[in-house]
Amino acid sequence: MRILVTGGAGFIGSHYVRTLLTGGYSAFAGASVTVLDLLTYAGNLANLEPVEGRYDLVHGDICDAELLARVVPGHDVVVNFAAESHVDRSIDGPSAFVRTNVLGTQTLLQACLDAAVPKVVQVSTDEVYGSIDEGSWAEDAPLRPRSPYSAAKAGGDLMARAYAVTHGLPVSITRCGNNYGPYQFPEKVVPLFVTNILEGRTVPLYGDGGNVRDWVHVDDHCRGIQIVAEQGEPGEVYHIAGTAELSNLELTQRLLDELDADWSSVERVTDRKGHDRRYSLDDTKLRGMGYAAGTGFDEGIAATVQWYVDNEAWWKPLKGAR
Ligand code: NAD
Repeated sequence: MRILVTGGAGFIGSHYVRTLLTGGYSAFAGASVTVLDLLTYAGNLANLEPVEGRYDLVHGDICDAELLARVVPGHDVVVNFAAESHVDRSIDGPSAFVRTNVLGTQTLLQACLDAAVPKVVQVSTDEVYGSIDEGSWAEDAPLRPRSPYSAAKAGGDLMARAYAVTHGLPVSITRCGNNYGPYQFPEKVVPLFVTNILEGRTVPLYGDGGNVRDWVHVDDHCRGIQIVAEQGEPGEVYHIAGTAELSNLELTQRLLDELDADWSSVERVTDRKGHDRRYSLDDTKLRGMGYAAGTGFDEGIAATVQWYVDNEAWWKPLKGAR
């Protein structure tokens, strides 16, 4: 069995590759893995050091149709993690997001269709639905993205749906809440706050701190993706919900507690433009396929903070990297 993981050098893709290659997904035991990654600022081969030498690397772009025509054929499963993923960057420079998240996804889908790949998974986000004050979204909720990042992800998702409906491409879509865990680029809130505090710097808290996110350990996200890779139906969407719904104030308090720091480390900054207030997914469908979160937030966040404490050599060179 051959698995192609696009964006496999990023935070979540590398977790999927490390887990797969260390026997974490029994249905894919013994599979060979190709990682195709553009190695943008967010792509980092150090994320794959634990499985160094056990995968094939293609340094390339999912927008490159000629490259994909050479690489994709022969793979049994393609899982697409490749994306521009940081909302703040999408506000300052949206074109890279449209290019990779929409055009790149479509180029990859076409290559999968041309190569008759039997299973494709498009990894996506709860942010495509916009913002919800109460309750949770089911998979058929309307897409109402509010940032250039989420609009571009929604575009990629709609392309995946179109390839499933129009061509019968066996592509399924996953949508997940906010991930946390080791090897996350230190621009995202959890590693940013932890590493700033470890460096004796302040952390920037947006607006009133009341924005609510549903936190998912990266290992649970990847297990959800794996269930969809094994059982997902063409054109279907599957949610992966978190285990802790927290406001940014509550999250900040948890991180300060873990690091024995206090609110003197927190700097209140002007809110993000168009900042979504709350996300919440209903993942009844995936739980009906055997999914259950395996990492509680208390144990997960403690282990995650400890990982950054122990792995300064990993994050130090990335601080301030563009
Ligand atoms: P990341 O930014 O850490 O990694 C993205 C990876 O994609 C990097 O390795 C980068 O080099 C690669 N990449 C970017 N453009 C590329 C291109 N044109 N061709 C090939 N590779 C390219 O992102 P992440 O947090 O690991 O997210 C992975 C996926 O999961 C994304 O699709 C994201 O939308 C989705 N997602 C993320 C979260 C989260 O909380 N981080 C939550 C839900 C869904």
